[in-house]
Amino acid sequence: MAIQAKMKKAVRLLGTGLAALLFCALIIVLFVKREKRLNTLDEPLPSPDGQLSDEEEIRFTVVLDPGHGEPDGGAVGIDTGTPEAGINLSYAKALKQQLEAMGVSVVLTREDENAISADKKEDMAARKAIMNGCNADIVVSIHMNKFRDRSVSGPMAFYIKGDDAGEALAKCVLDGVCEAIDRPLRHVNPGDYFILKHSEPPAVILECGFLSNSTDEKLLLSEEHMNKMMQGAAKGIMNYLNSTNEDAADKADAEDK
Ligand SMILES: [Zn+2]
Repeated sequence: MAIQAKMKKAVRLLGTGLAALLFCALIIVLFVKREKRLNTLDEPLPSPDGQLSDEEEIRFTVVLDPGHGEPDGGAVGIDTGTPEAGINLSYAKALKQQLEAMGVSVVLTREDENAISADKKEDMAARKAIMNGCNADIVVSIHMNKFRDRSVSGPMAFYIKGDDAGEALAKCVLDGVCEAIDRPLRHVNPGDYFILKHSEPPAVILECGFLSNSTDEKLLLSEEHMNKMMQGAAKGIMNYLNSTNEDAADKADAEDK
């Protein structure tokens, strides 16, 4: 009888021990599950429409430089005498709007009719400081052209000789513009200009058309033409920026191997 009683006690103890083990296991499982749920809550939630957050969306910074500004009006329209400076500013602001809608951060070198400084040297130095001081991916300087032969018309783009990135950028922008306004595609040109020479990011001067040509002047002063053209410029800029991004990703991939 004594042995039977001891056996019974042992079985009872074993049962209690197993129950305690099971209970502990249950507690651990519940705890791990709760931790997992808390961790999930720490992760950023996707917005309802599946778009990226603001921080992720702004991937590029572009400096737009509306050429000239009071007291330097630049070229003037052959029929209306409208100075280039104000037209440049309108075009730059239209392009800014287009780019910002695409999630690009835009810095303007000037935001009103005045140059940054009345002194040309100081003005150019200030533009240089802005172009190179905001970690920009590219610089786009906007101008209106003039030429003694009044029959010459259409947009042009200039880059600094020997800068492959600047040349590729100029090509993307000019192609975008020509396509948007139904002009035949044109070659880009090297040009020895201050903005191009002193910009650390790849830079392009976009000459939107010739104020010395009557037809061009009329077009350049039309808001519809401006918006069409700047839509094309924005498309070209995005083509360039996205292609450099792919190049960088390809390079990183190659280095991994
Ligand atoms: Zn100009």
